[in-house]
Amino acid sequence: MNLRKIVVAIDGYSACGKSSTAKEVSKVLGYRYIDTGAMYRAVTLYFLDQHIALTNPKEVSKALEQIHISFKVNSKSKTETYLNGLSVENEIRKMRVSEMVSQVSTIKDVRVAMVEQQRRMGREKGVVMDGRDIGTVVFPHAELKLFMKADILVRAFRRQKELLDRDQMVDLDDVLENILERDRIDTTRAESPLRQAADAILIDTTHVSFDEQVDEVVRMAIAKMLQPAV
Ligand code: C5P
Repeated sequence: MNLRKIVVAIDGYSACGKSSTAKEVSKVLGYRYIDTGAMYRAVTLYFLDQHIALTNPKEVSKALEQIHISFKVNSKSKTETYLNGLSVENEIRKMRVSEMVSQVSTIKDVRVAMVEQQRRMGREKGVVMDGRDIGTVVFPHAELKLFMKADILVRAFRRQKELLDRDQMVDLDDVLENILERDRIDTTRAESPLRQAADAILIDTTHVSFDEQVDEVVRMAIAKMLQPAV
């Protein structure tokens, strides 16, 4: 059977299960998984550690030239984010990064640099990419576009559990507040705000089990892979 390679673009609100779904779907399809949120988080970590003034465009663009982000699969088959050759996978999930990342992601130069890298990573297709602007800006011609949402409390519980699994104790209130604030900034920013692409399929994950979610996306991806290229 002749299956064509496609781009699967998954966008949506914070903590809706985009990354876990994208990761699992990429495994099943044998595709590369690209977590674009991790890229914005890595930039944020660098800016925080190097005390970059976000309001100084010269400082920001100089810093961006020093940043190299890559992904490597570790011995447990998990993808880790690398910043300038060092794994930052744990560090970028911490609240100090979560609290700043949406602010950093509003900066045009940051977005231009990230989008360019993301397009390069997906040039050969065969990728599942998740983020906020994948179906609208990064790959507007992606063969399969999904937009995920879920009830806010469900999202907060899930994110708190993820953090606990990484030994990070965080109050539910703080998680909830961070998710809402990131949604607010992400949907209202001037540069490529989070929105559902006209041809994206909406998935509400509130009452759907993880396995059902993955099965559904894999089924939709295979249907697209079976279609002849236009
Ligand atoms: O996906 P994750 O929640 O880790 O993303 C962290 C933040 O990075 C988002 O809240 C958003 O501000 C930013 N982001 C973005 N565009 C993307 C992916 C993430 O602006 N494509």
